[in-house]
Amino acid sequence: MYYIDPHIHMVSRTTDDYETLAKMGCVGLSEPAFWAGYDRGSVDGFRDYFRQLTDFESRRAAIYGIQHFTWLCINAKEAENVELSRDVIAMIPEFLNAKGVLGIGEIGLNKNTRNEAIVFLEHIDLAMKTNEQILIHTPHLEDKYQGTRMILDMLISDNRIERHRVLVDHVEEHTIRPVLEAGFWAGMTLYPVSKCTPARAADMVEMYGPERLMVNSAGDWGPSKPTAVPDFILEMRRRGHGEELIRRIVYDNPLTFFGQSRNFDFQAPC
Ligand SMILES: [Zn+2]
Repeated sequence: MYYIDPHIHMVSRTTDDYETLAKMGCVGLSEPAFWAGYDRGSVDGFRDYFRQLTDFESRRAAIYGIQHFTWLCINAKEAENVELSRDVIAMIPEFLNAKGVLGIGEIGLNKNTRNEAIVFLEHIDLAMKTNEQILIHTPHLEDKYQGTRMILDMLISDNRIERHRVLVDHVEEHTIRPVLEAGFWAGMTLYPVSKCTPARAADMVEMYGPERLMVNSAGDWGPSKPTAVPDFILEMRRRGHGEELIRRIVYDNPLTFFGQSRNFDFQAPC
């Protein structure tokens, strides 16, 4: 089955991983901007990173027939430096018309601090002024519930936001309901040893249905598995779910959501 991974950090992955993803059926992916493994010291560090995301990674993916899309921001981890964050936010528009840029992300909270919230709101303001879609990172583990509540409160209190143009990622059993009920898209991030597993994601599909729901692998610096979406497909088949339902979650839904971005020029495989 063809699939799209809507949230995977390929800068932390090898070219061999692109080959494996292609062999597993991956035909498209989107890579949100995130932490580089170290805190960057200047706006030029981010400018170079955005060049990597908008130019080099798309070419590396294309060698294996995978279409690469991306999202731009300064991540919550580095948002403690508000002055640098403001310089990065002011620079982002240089790249918003670049090929494959789907919007602003992944913005959000990490440790739910005041500075993170300030920078989150300033990203939202940029997205509203430039008519961009938004991809949101919710905190992990013990910070997730409170952080997700804070994020939803900030989003809902801004009446400029069209909720069907916002994806809230890393939802789990205790945060998925308010995200979907408010009208946002929700992403379940699958990890091999911690957080949400393919089986727990299948449970949530059975509870909430496929509407505005996606799964992704993150593929980040920590223990993560870039082929987690095929693991989810296998788990769904093992439970007897039909191909149409599975395909909706791993292919049709990402296409519908991404299709609302003006730079999404996906060519479906024939
Ligand atoms: Zn991420």
